[in-house]
Amino acid sequence: MQFKDIIGQRSLINNLTEIIDSGRVSHAQLFLGPNGYGSLSLALAYAQYLNCQNRQHFDDPSQHDGLRADSCGECPHCKKYQQLMHTDLHLYFPNATTKRITKEPSCAEFQSEFREFLLGNSGYGTPDEWFTALGIEQKQGIINTRDANDIVRTMGLTAYEAPYKVYIVWMMEKMNVQAANKLLKALEEPTPNTVFLLVSESKDKLLSTIISRAQLVQVGKIDNESIAKAFAAQVEQERLAAFAAAAEGDYLKAKQNLQRTEFDEQFGQMFVEWMRQLFKLNMASLSAWIENFATLGREQQKQFLLYAMNALRACFLRTTAGVQLDYLLRFGDEKFNASFPNFITANNIALLDEAFNSTIFAIERNAYGKIAMMQLSFNVSKALKKR
Ligand SMILES: [Zn+2]
Repeated sequence: MQFKDIIGQRSLINNLTEIIDSGRVSHAQLFLGPNGYGSLSLALAYAQYLNCQNRQHFDDPSQHDGLRADSCGECPHCKKYQQLMHTDLHLYFPNATTKRITKEPSCAEFQSEFREFLLGNSGYGTPDEWFTALGIEQKQGIINTRDANDIVRTMGLTAYEAPYKVYIVWMMEKMNVQAANKLLKALEEPTPNTVFLLVSESKDKLLSTIISRAQLVQVGKIDNESIAKAFAAQVEQERLAAFAAAAEGDYLKAKQNLQRTEFDEQFGQMFVEWMRQLFKLNMASLSAWIENFATLGREQQKQFLLYAMNALRACFLRTTAGVQLDYLLRFGDEKFNASFPNFITANNIALLDEAFNSTIFAIERNAYGKIAMMQLSFNVSKALKKR
């Protein structure tokens, strides 16, 4: 990964390349900050720059996306680093037993999965996403003593080909205490040209002895402008600034918000269509709508029902208190948006809430979705007439 692929963080990156260029490379560094700020991506790009044979220096950073320098991306080391396949790059991360590895798991067993995970998200990922990629159900993993032993064993060997041998430990806080104590020994007696890049979201969960032996690289929030730029193709121009601000400097949060918006649009259109069917009560088209609903997964069915219930409550607030919650109702046409909320009043909001809650309860307990939705449709239709 090159620095140019990283979202924002320009002044931090420029500090890091300056330090490397001056030859003052500390043998242990702690990249500290949330995954969504890019701490792991920074460590990966740092390691590549460290080993690049043809570092690029730019006289005018403003012509190079704010960077004063970057790795070349083309020398033999860069090429291997881009694939995360360099023999002198060692990756450590939380792991656990899986369907394939049923006992004594270790990072060595999951190298190709982890590379694929990183290449797929440019280093911006959460432990949960990683465990999902591994197919670990219980979503727990640690960096264990087998991993620490592996580090101690291989660090004694000289680098094969690169100037620096690099160990990246992602989610250092997931290393158990015995393993961390072994690693501590390694940090105390560094071998020449071996660099440890520890990546962590939380300083509080690390041994103080580890922290004291590593140079701190504090990774701060990403600036709004850079987040806006990263999502310019996916978010409408007029909404972009607010969208970027809502991410609070966190790329992963922005990504989540984007997914939620996409869901809302799909749900919003479904909701309007459903309510129209309930006024018409044409059995054929209502059945078709329910068939479509049934294609959603169970969790999504539940999410839709929660969405619809919130939309109805929003209508109620608009009718009774004049509260504007257009966000939930911007998917209908003007006529629908103007007239539909008036159907939700004090006479039926409790009935509607009850009908939705019992359907959600039923779907959570594996009720047959189509029948539950038909029943709910009739109940809602009845309630709408009681306004
Ligand atoms: Zn290079």
